[in-house]
Amino acid sequence: MNIQSARFIKSIVAKDPTLEDGKPQIVFIGRSNVGKSSTINAILNRKDLSKVSSSPGRTAQINLFLINESFYFVDLPGYGYAKKSKQERTELQELINWYLFGQNYKHKKIILIIDAFTGPSADDFEILEAMEAEKLPVIIIANKIDKIKPSLQKNYKQELQEMFPEQKIIYYSTKTKVGLDELRKEILK
Ligand code: GDP
Repeated sequence: MNIQSARFIKSIVAKDPTLEDGKPQIVFIGRSNVGKSSTINAILNRKDLSKVSSSPGRTAQINLFLINESFYFVDLPGYGYAKKSKQERTELQELINWYLFGQNYKHKKIILIIDAFTGPSADDFEILEAMEAEKLPVIIIANKIDKIKPSLQKNYKQELQEMFPEQKIIYYSTKTKVGLDELRKEILK
């Protein structure tokens, strides 16, 4: 599928009619600074549609983008940012849980982005478990694969697949664009 159009619609923090208009929702989730904005921009072939932030953890809202006038990219706030206060983190988690588990939205796919270099965090495991329990359609993207030496990648990929035996994992780098075609095919099919 080609991207004909992609535009930012709005940021939301609660129930909104846009989410109930019946269009499929492709969801992006991951910890703060994992490269979520860069990945969304790369898939859409846009430079700065989704802001690549220099101050991580700033976005405590859900950003909605309408693609080809027919489906949404739903950009959930990045979790696990250590510098946020406990209350801010709780609010953020509640917003994510509300969207993922509290509503009957049409999640076509949920893209969980993890950091290939630092490996999955406790938060990543927790959210994945919750999504699996709800049988949500999850794909894992291991971003920043450029930071792992090519000679170590085979072992690394094996280890990661053992950690997530049920999941499809796509290895990807926003920096080198390795894996981008596979990512686009998988997400937009
Ligand atoms: P977000 O907070 O998850 O939206 O993350 P951003 O897209 O803002 O990226 C966070 C930082 O990681 C930025 O400094 C990016 O340049 C960097 N980054 C993102 N993707 C990659 C990647 O594939 N490789 C490397 N080396 N750095 C990346």
